[in-house]
Amino acid sequence: MNLSKYSRREAHEVCVGNVKIGSSYPIAVQSMTNTPTADTASSVAQTKRIADAGAGIVRLTAQGRKEGENLENIVAELRKDGYSTAIVADIHFVPEVASIAARYVDKVRINPGNYRTSNGELEALIAQCRERGVALRIGVNHGSLAKRIFDEWGDTPEGMVVSAMEFLRVCRKENFDQVVVSMKSSNTRVMVQAYRLLVEAMEREGMTYPVHLGVTEAGNGIEGRIKSAVGIGALLADGIGDTIRVSLTEVPENEVPVAQMLVDYYKSREGEFVINHPENYHPTQYVRRSNVTTPIIHSELTDEFCVVESTSKNPTAELRAAILNMNSTEPVMVKRRYEDNSAEAVALKAAADLGVLFLDGLADGIWVDAPALSEQEIKDIELMILQASRVRFSHTEYIACPSCGRTLYDIEKTLADIKSRTSHLKNLKIGIMGCIVNGPGEMADADYGYVGAAAGRITLYKGREIVEKNIPQEEAIDHLIELIKANGDWQDPE
Ligand code: SF4
Repeated sequence: MNLSKYSRREAHEVCVGNVKIGSSYPIAVQSMTNTPTADTASSVAQTKRIADAGAGIVRLTAQGRKEGENLENIVAELRKDGYSTAIVADIHFVPEVASIAARYVDKVRINPGNYRTSNGELEALIAQCRERGVALRIGVNHGSLAKRIFDEWGDTPEGMVVSAMEFLRVCRKENFDQVVVSMKSSNTRVMVQAYRLLVEAMEREGMTYPVHLGVTEAGNGIEGRIKSAVGIGALLADGIGDTIRVSLTEVPENEVPVAQMLVDYYKSREGEFVINHPENYHPTQYVRRSNVTTPIIHSELTDEFCVVESTSKNPTAELRAAILNMNSTEPVMVKRRYEDNSAEAVALKAAADLGVLFLDGLADGIWVDAPALSEQEIKDIELMILQASRVRFSHTEYIACPSCGRTLYDIEKTLADIKSRTSHLKNLKIGIMGCIVNGPGEMADADYGYVGAAAGRITLYKGREIVEKNIPQEEAIDHLIELIKANGDWQDPE
């Protein structure tokens, strides 16, 4: 095994304003505003706060002509005040807005689920981007695939890849290489599988487009950080990823230091990222190596388990290699020591190092050895990593969007209120989404959904079905609890 260099997947250079993305450059950190893009003053102020926190790229949603046009004022204000931050417009449903935004910003993100490749729209946008030196992101999201892709492939990683490759082939046909691609999901397993499959598909066709990583709707607090770190870390450990966004349901500037910590953590490694998978490995297969069905935390350790500890700078590669070299299928507890004093740093690093071993079905137990943390903090982190890796569900999972200019209520406070009343529930996923336009699709496999329908109004979902529309916001959490009770999913707190 050659441990002499850090090797990232080869990706060509894409310029987003003055930020260069690609494997020759540091991984770029970005975030997104949640102010109304039609409001210049608040959007400029928030973009500055995100830039001051260290993000080189800031994205703003442009849901309509008004917001698209106002990007001109926002960019002008920022430049006047000396901010050279790269600005990205996020376009979902109205292709016409992409061509408005492309007059003002450095990159335009389009969702192939809402765009067509058959009517020349994409070619026209590419021509416009080429003329002004604007980059493009093909941003596929699990839960918002085009109907024709969904009908053939379902809401699967394969469908996501088919969708992205269609668009990338048009970009290549047009000889336009200033393109970044993303495959986000709130489900870390889907997300990791989709990116790995995408990279394989691009390699087969000789494409080297840079990759933007992110876990959507990760939530907030330590849990949101762990979920992002599991997904993003799994791919960085594979050498995949040229720019990242950690989505949190918090003020956007909070996302930046978390993303930077992840970037620095991988940058500081000395060894090569060896990507060794089990024999016959396929990106969309999840096969458990042992017969342990529910992985354990270290306080539950028994003699049955073999403890494998990593002390190297490449824990993921070292642990993966050690497990794959074992001759037996004896259960394995993976262990790693973290000297950091903050729970956040330990959580992020442990999630990034160890989560992928659970996503890949290789590990059966987790031991986060962190002398500065209490036993309870360590237990919570271990359980959250197992949950984020989707192998053991010990508490309610919140699929909460990070909010953006479309958000119709105070999502940060609402998430805190819903958590305070439901976090004791087991095996339940609750989606808390800012808008009805993207929310229902992107909360994907949530059991219940709380979705902004209009200003001050909430629509509740059971799975993908609407059960109550336009409830006044002040009453909506009570209605959600009643709905959970009516479906027999409620337990009283212990
Ligand atoms: S669900 Fe709606 S409000 Fe939330 S981030 Fe997505 S587009 Fe914005």
